[in-house]
Amino acid sequence: MKYYAKPLTNLINQLSKLPGIGGKTAQRLAFHILSMDEKDAIAIADAIVEGKRFMKYCSVCGNLTDQDPCSICSDATRDRKVVCVVESAKDVAAMERIREYNGLYHVLHGAISPMEGIGPEDINLKSLIVRLRENDIDEVILATNPNIEGEATAMYIARLIKPSGIKTTRIAHGIPVGGDLEYTDEITLTKAIEGRREL
Ligand SMILES: [Zn+2]
Repeated sequence: MKYYAKPLTNLINQLSKLPGIGGKTAQRLAFHILSMDEKDAIAIADAIVEGKRFMKYCSVCGNLTDQDPCSICSDATRDRKVVCVVESAKDVAAMERIREYNGLYHVLHGAISPMEGIGPEDINLKSLIVRLRENDIDEVILATNPNIEGEATAMYIARLIKPSGIKTTRIAHGIPVGGDLEYTDEITLTKAIEGRREL
């Protein structure tokens, strides 16, 4: 990259840190940014800074939020007796889009994956158990992804919860095995939540 002046090389290097952005794409994006109006380019930079500064994880459910507790946890109209367990904050957004679910969430920030060395203690699981112990919860819906890691995580959590007597359900397989909750269309996701079964 020695053909470019330092600020441009730096911009390319920074952009290439983003997932899915290789050297060529980073270069194309950098050239595009330099060709933009200054105010538009600065708006992008500001959005990154503001996002990092103001977004955090909800101390109750682990969802991404700019207020703590998040707007879902502090919404008095929601059913506080049902907790839907998902892998990521993007899954909360997917569930919220279908407008079928009115309970609370718990975001694990990952799934158990022995292959990748991710164990139960590496995900946001301990706080779920504390939540279930300290609150009056009737049902836990396990909405982890329907792939090997997601299934293993659901089974692990179901076993963990079993002694408490809390009803534990798993979303139905309208969602293709190996699929991602995040990319599932609304009808399939609605069917999956309606057809959940007790574990
Ligand atoms: Zn929350």
